[in-house]
Amino acid sequence: MEENKEVMSGNFIHTFIDEDIAEGGAYYGKKVHTRFPPEPNGYLHIGHAKAIFVDFGTAMKYNGICNLRMDDTNPTKEDVEYVDAIKEDIKWLGFDWGDRFYYASDYFEQMYGYAAELIKKGLAYVCELNGEQMREYRGDLTTPAKSPYRDRPVEESLDLFKRMREGEFEDGAMTLRAKIDLASGNFNMRDPVLYRINHKHHHRTGDKWCIYPMYDFAHPIEDAIEGITHSLCTLEFEAHRPLYDWVVDNISIDSKPRQIEFARLGINNTVMSKRKLRKLVEENYVSGWDDPRMPTICGLRRRGYTPKSIRSFTDQIGVSKVNSVVEYSFLEHCLRDDLNENAARAMAVLEPVKLIITNYPEGKTEEFEVENHPQNPDMGTRTVTFSRELYIEASDFMEEPFKKYQRLYPGNEVRIKSAYIVKCTGCKKDDDGNVVEVYAEYDPETRGGNTPDGRKVRGTIHWVNAADCVSAEVRLYDNLFTVPEPESGEGEFTDYINPESLVVLKDCKLEKSLADAQKTDRFQFMRQGYFCLDTVDSTPDKLVFNRSVSLKDSFKKGK
Ligand code: ATP
Ligand code: MG
Repeated sequence: MEENKEVMSGNFIHTFIDEDIAEGGAYYGKKVHTRFPPEPNGYLHIGHAKAIFVDFGTAMKYNGICNLRMDDTNPTKEDVEYVDAIKEDIKWLGFDWGDRFYYASDYFEQMYGYAAELIKKGLAYVCELNGEQMREYRGDLTTPAKSPYRDRPVEESLDLFKRMREGEFEDGAMTLRAKIDLASGNFNMRDPVLYRINHKHHHRTGDKWCIYPMYDFAHPIEDAIEGITHSLCTLEFEAHRPLYDWVVDNISIDSKPRQIEFARLGINNTVMSKRKLRKLVEENYVSGWDDPRMPTICGLRRRGYTPKSIRSFTDQIGVSKVNSVVEYSFLEHCLRDDLNENAARAMAVLEPVKLIITNYPEGKTEEFEVENHPQNPDMGTRTVTFSRELYIEASDFMEEPFKKYQRLYPGNEVRIKSAYIVKCTGCKKDDDGNVVEVYAEYDPETRGGNTPDGRKVRGTIHWVNAADCVSAEVRLYDNLFTVPEPESGEGEFTDYINPESLVVLKDCKLEKSLADAQKTDRFQFMRQGYFCLDTVDSTPDKLVFNRSVSLKDSFKKGK
């Protein structure tokens, strides 16, 4: 786990907590205790990173603690594979739950006990309405709900609830409902369902249970059992807070967690819900959950995102009460910020063409010592070699240049970065008119790329030595969707997949030093962007680099 000592910027949650821990507050003298409660039904995405940052970051800010809890009360679609991945992602982001790792399903017995307690207190009853009837009886803003089983005797409800657990009834035959207020303006309080029958195998409890608690009942109990002081969640739970409080207030438990809601993170040009991300994976629109185009933590990691850049992003977007959509370019901006400072510079030619320095002696090789980072001498230097045949970017030569083109064209001088000034003399083309070789002559007086006579050379291009460069595949990525809001367009969101979201360049030429690149290394390829080895597909025999982000910053402040 990388070190993470940054302190979260202030926000409204901290104002609430400050009140609570002040003298006279509900948690005076107590340690701030939060939790992150993912449902293990998919991989974590950048939206979860925000929640992780809020949950763990808030605890850290107050020298408190944060639990990691798998919210696995729903037996249908959960999987152990996800549990391990979730842990890995949180650790990688730089957060630590210590020894406080829990499963909500471990509390099933206690939850059952609290439900029975509510029945005994006359605060819950077994209802035999089916789903359709339940909807029909729900009422509206001016009409209260109807609930014909509401006044069922306590003993009868207790008996039925026990038999529900024992498996006597089919799915949907009955539910346990809280007895709260059929006329409440908040529909969540109109005798909400607490338990439903579901004869499904659970990934941890197996077939022990055939009744499962509803989120609104289970979550406050989980929080209370763990002694959570502040249960931070997203805005859609705001209208559920009265029910959350009702549950905690009416069961025999000492602790009383406080739920505080904050805005969900949305990012444009992508989708965020696990259901949609799973569709992309299952229908092979992407190569997997960790496809570098995915907004998942593992996808971003494979793409080359650093934990620091993601933390910085989640901190800078802030925590508020208003849902908003953040520009994808801002996430990229945060990555660029980190890599600009920390990535080693290197040269790579992505679409190569040969440049032959016709007046340079055959067989001769020169070495140039170049710095790995222009502003950070601590990052050291490396050797690049120069000889008669180089590779340059095909786009750095034009036989007939457009106006203001300052790179190679016949008669023009260009700086071969850190090496020499060369003057273009022409090119050779194949039968189809494609340029296959470019020719130039170098000026021996300009070693290091300097002009002793002070003459101006406008263009500087990157290059590699054809004699010792290494070949690699390079993958360039763009937005996964062509429109900012793929979910709100006509038809399916998958209709808006960007066919150019992945461009694979098969035969790129990289400077020799990159043959030793490690999977944790980050590079700035001069003029091309920031790159890293692909953690899945790259091997020493076949290097594969991902472009993490281009150099051009399209993020505009104040947008
Ligand atoms: P999804 O809709 O993507 O499946 P979810 O809310 O069902 O998301 P959970 O695993 O239940 O996913 O979420 C765990 C925690 O992460 C919850 O507290 C939830 O509020 C939070 N969370 C999920 N998505 C976002 C988001 N986009 N922004 C901020 N927090 C989020
Ligand atoms: Mg969920």
